[in-house]
Amino acid sequence: MKKPEMRSCLMSITPYKPGKPIEEVERELGLKNVIKMASNENPLGPSSLAVEAMQGCLDKMHIYPDGSCYYLRQALAERLQVEPEQLIFGNGSDEILSFLTLAYIKPGEEAVMVTPTFSEYEFAMRIMDGAFCTIPLTGSDFSYDFEAVLNSVNENTRLVFICSPNNPTGTIIRNSEFKDFIERLPEKVLVLLDQAYLEYVNDSDHVSGLDYIAKGYPVIALRTFSKIYGLAGLRIGYGIAPKEIISELNRVREPFNVNAMAQAAAIAALDDIDHVERSRSLVNRGRKQLTEGLAEMGFRPVPDQANFCFVDIKEDSQKVFQALLKKGVIVRTGDIFGFPTFIRVTYGTEEQNDRFLTALKEVFAGEC
Ligand code: PMP
Repeated sequence: MKKPEMRSCLMSITPYKPGKPIEEVERELGLKNVIKMASNENPLGPSSLAVEAMQGCLDKMHIYPDGSCYYLRQALAERLQVEPEQLIFGNGSDEILSFLTLAYIKPGEEAVMVTPTFSEYEFAMRIMDGAFCTIPLTGSDFSYDFEAVLNSVNENTRLVFICSPNNPTGTIIRNSEFKDFIERLPEKVLVLLDQAYLEYVNDSDHVSGLDYIAKGYPVIALRTFSKIYGLAGLRIGYGIAPKEIISELNRVREPFNVNAMAQAAAIAALDDIDHVERSRSLVNRGRKQLTEGLAEMGFRPVPDQANFCFVDIKEDSQKVFQALLKKGVIVRTGDIFGFPTFIRVTYGTEEQNDRFLTALKEVFAGEC
């Protein structure tokens, strides 16, 4: 075929493999009632107020969405006590990661990130032909080694990716750690502080980032409606940063990147305090249930502050994954994060957690 040559930096990208969809597993294995505990979604579903809001805009779908997300912007700015111009919205927070590298990474420029962490940071760097170095998290509690992160920053570094709570470990960074880090970071390095799971955190000392953003530090906090708000299918997330950064990111944003239904649902979801509280409480109960159930089997998940746990099951996680799949339970294998004996499990409803624990017991009793 005659076609232009693909940019060579794309050769290093393997397309993202998402958690297996329920329908696919049911179709392939001839199963019913498959449960997915693989993509850190909210098992309670979206808020009923968000569903109502979506229904309310069905007959307006012939109109382009509001490219500025005006009403959502106002609502969030008030909620977060920031200026409306300090916010940017994306087709999922994923999209904002691409805005960052599109705006700030020239070929060969660098980022620092940790491992294991969310794979999209690497992707966003690779599409721009950027380079990156990865600093291993340390110890059984997977702590950030900020000393090593700072030592890896050089004159070519433009971005540092930080994820708190971190995916897949669920571990957090404390305010004091962040303060020390950000004050020692050389100028002209932008920090991406990914807080996709922020709303699940119980520790009041969790890094906020907003204080540094208010003081004009080059920090962008990334948040999403996909997790506690239960709107992953709509694709909407946002970034909070000093105005100058937001204005630069807006140059690479397409005019109608956030759809109208997502905007309406997000506004309604923000107001559904009860749904958020129920979602948080379900996760807290799920954590207890899984921690206790896994302990009975001799496994100890990494202590997390998110809606999932990362646990060493001391077996090939691909094998366990396949065996769990046959029992209708989808989890995430640790090999994709470089931890082949770990699995990542999203906390589900009490019944789903029970099904997972029973299935895992059966797998270890017979098939592994
Ligand atoms: N950041 C982290 C740490 C995540 O785990 C995810 C989703 N898995 C995202 C960002 C992206 O979320 P979304 O694009 O749905 O907002």
